[in-house]
Amino acid sequence: MGKVSKGIDCSVVNCSDSGFRSLSKNTFKGSDLQVSESSRRIYLCVGHYKTWKKKTKSARDLEKVRYAGIGRSAW
Ligand SMILES: [Zn+2]
Repeated sequence: MGKVSKGIDCSVVNCSDSGFRSLSKNTFKGSDLQVSESSRRIYLCVGHYKTWKKKTKSARDLEKVRYAGIGRSAW
């Protein structure tokens, strides 16, 4: 995840806001946001970045819990 230099637009279809964060396609997986397939990296504007974060948060929290639980007998 990195900052985006000016002049790059959000990759989400029908969004023309400027990019705020760039993600690899792999990182972006699990979101139902529609992005243009041509780009190798996904660029998100502030609004869509927040949407993506929200949508993927629960999944990532679950993973964290799972990893943290490894080796614990209480789990
Ligand atoms: Zn956008």
